[in-house]
Amino acid sequence: MSNDTRPFGRFFLPGPTEVHPDVLAAQDRPIISHRGPEVKALMKELQAGLEVVFCTSRPVFISTSSATGLMEAAVRNAGRTRILSLVNGAFSQRFADIARSCGFEVDTVDVAWGEAHDPEQVAERLERGSYDAVTMAHSETSTGVLNDVRALAEVIRRHEDTLVLVDSVSGFGAAELRPDDWGIDFLLTGSQKAFALPPGLAFGVASERMMARSAVAPRKGYYFDLESFAKSQEKNQSPSTPAISVLYSTQVQLERMKAEGIEARWKRHTEMADATYAWVDAMIERGVEMKILAPEGYRSPGVTAITAPEGMTGPDVTSGVTERGWVIGGGYGKLKESTFRIGHMGDHTLDELNGLLDVLTEVVS
Ligand SMILES: *Cc1c(COP(=O)(O)O)cnc(C)c1O
Repeated sequence: MSNDTRPFGRFFLPGPTEVHPDVLAAQDRPIISHRGPEVKALMKELQAGLEVVFCTSRPVFISTSSATGLMEAAVRNAGRTRILSLVNGAFSQRFADIARSCGFEVDTVDVAWGEAHDPEQVAERLERGSYDAVTMAHSETSTGVLNDVRALAEVIRRHEDTLVLVDSVSGFGAAELRPDDWGIDFLLTGSQKAFALPPGLAFGVASERMMARSAVAPRKGYYFDLESFAKSQEKNQSPSTPAISVLYSTQVQLERMKAEGIEARWKRHTEMADATYAWVDAMIERGVEMKILAPEGYRSPGVTAITAPEGMTGPDVTSGVTERGWVIGGGYGKLKESTFRIGHMGDHTLDELNGLLDVLTEVVS
């Protein structure tokens, strides 16, 4: 099927995700000056809406970059010399790689792909060395694992000088997340995952401690200097030209999210995830050998990675789905052959997901 005629509700990639037609249509407005009064009014309105959905009283920075840009911002503004990275999949590994490439000394706590981090293990590690910051992925999109960032932040916060840096690119909008209450020093997400916006923007929330560190950070560079974001923000501006068209989409999406309510949004995601687990159980009962990669209790409500059934590879499953006019995600990195992923995040409904699960039943039977 041509993408031009693809009906809404069949695209279950775990990012970029399907964008609602109203949100997409919002981009079709004239470009305005990025320094004029209209953009300031727009930025001011966005700020109010963003604070609600991010459950924060801090400013929400808007970066014209993909989320990886704000991962770099996180370590550049928080780091002086040493960073600890919690690695349990491809994206949390990327966080460590970024910190190393920015010139920091990086140690890692590694657990197997498909596992979550244990706060006690992290606590022990922090007794053995001091770090400027700890990086982690909230929802590890490569495996579908959800880390308990609240518990992890709590043990890290016992160390006054160690900042908590959280990538919630596929978590934000899908899973409960309260940066102020949970003591997260920098939270980042991208526009194109559970936020269900077109790609092109990233969003970040920095604590006061993070801003104080940014003021003395030795390697923060120019583009991702959080102090410059904060200064611009006070004037309802951005440090450089923003992706104006995606700002328009954000305006409409925030209205939609306000109408739904952020907690209702989390709940819808939990329901979609539960339906996915129930489908796997039903398939197992029929004799199809599959397994959800993430352990119970540590599963992301936005994305599920499932091992390919006996006799099939991950690519066999994804191409079977594609042939039927639907889209799911392949396995990521070293899990490419052995798994497939369903991105049940963004603006999908349970009905649409059930449609996909029927298609998947055909493919794996
Ligand atoms: C997609 C993703 C990223 C990278 O986002 P980009 O917008 O492609 O830079 C980082 N972390 C996680 C957890 C992701 O899912």
